[in-house]
Amino acid sequence: MSLGNEKSLNDPRQWLSERELYRYQVREATQYAMFMLDPAGILLSWNAGVGHILGYSEEDWVGKHASMIFTPAEQAHEVCRAELLFAAEQGCATDIRWHLRKDGSELFAHGFMTAIRAADGTLLGFSKILSDETKNKQLQDSLTESNEALEQFAYIASHDLQEPLRTIGTFAELLATEYQKNLDQDAAGYLELIVSGAKRMSTLIQDLLAYARVQTEVNRPASYALDQDLETALTQLQVLIDESGAVVTHDALPTLPADQGQMVRLFQNLIGNALKYRKPDVRPEIHISAQQQGPFWVITVHDNGIGFDEKHARDIFLPFKRLHGQQEYPGTGVGLAICRRIVEWHGGRIWAESRLGEGSKFHFSLPLEGKVIPEYTRPVTTGL
Ligand code: ADP
Repeated sequence: MSLGNEKSLNDPRQWLSERELYRYQVREATQYAMFMLDPAGILLSWNAGVGHILGYSEEDWVGKHASMIFTPAEQAHEVCRAELLFAAEQGCATDIRWHLRKDGSELFAHGFMTAIRAADGTLLGFSKILSDETKNKQLQDSLTESNEALEQFAYIASHDLQEPLRTIGTFAELLATEYQKNLDQDAAGYLELIVSGAKRMSTLIQDLLAYARVQTEVNRPASYALDQDLETALTQLQVLIDESGAVVTHDALPTLPADQGQMVRLFQNLIGNALKYRKPDVRPEIHISAQQQGPFWVITVHDNGIGFDEKHARDIFLPFKRLHGQQEYPGTGVGLAICRRIVEWHGGRIWAESRLGEGSKFHFSLPLEGKVIPEYTRPVTTGL
């Protein structure tokens, strides 16, 4: 039996007329509202999706002006006309915005409108498809809200904790210096622990503040050469580089839309770690490379340091997760969590490869075109 025969036997178009196909694909489809409009925006056709999503029966719908589903009410006509104008000029228009159902409730819908023209170019009208995205929008909003609340909480908590901590630190230091003669050895030792504990907590709070502050604004960042950001980070690490005798080399890095301050911090944290987690008695060699992979640049920071067991390659990006002792390698465990937040905010990913004793590679990807910002409703223009 030939494959070609099977295919044609199973092809429903053999059994269905154009009219029946229209019925199944459009008229009876409930998940998408699909309808036609005349050039002035009068609704000409209806499908089951209009009933399901917008709540209109065919009688309530056909012959009315499409502006009845637009919101806010006082601008509905204007917004609707602007969309028709845009589709007429460009051939099609997409929009994601709130609409009104027949019962007055609001619906967040993704719409796609196509202009229909006769062979001589005369505008005959428009076809429009709407999908209901209300649940997705509500979920997205609640996630954004809880993220913002969490950020706010981390910010306020860390900010407000600093004040009493400063008091503890200052007075413990005063006690240690001014009452030194009256203290026995144990008391002096306890005070020293209080002072160093307060200092450590203050560093933790500073890092937590930096973590909470990673910006979340929605503006597309300006374009920056990563080379410049790397140079700035290296200047800030110069003392450590000189002290350790490290050799830092790098490929030419790309220019892409990214927040400059955050890129500097990213390089500073990763290269700072490569310097800190170096092998004793081995000169640190650090190389930063860049490779284009599909729609992303992947930047790698490669070191010849102490490395770590790869089973921890994911956990180390969690706040406060540390693999090495505080005495040996001081730190708070927040640096890589900040790196992750920065990279993910820019629409990329960060990951690590390593082996104990064999150095580490930290990779992060950034989209060539910058962070993808969802396309929202265009500004309203008037006149058709
Ligand atoms: P911190 O350095 O303050 O501890 P990070 O969040 O920067 O915090 O790093 C988390 C942990 O990941 C570190 O404590 C260390 O155990 C491990 N780590 C990070 N970078 C490296 C590196 N280049 N080589 C080996 N281990 C590393």
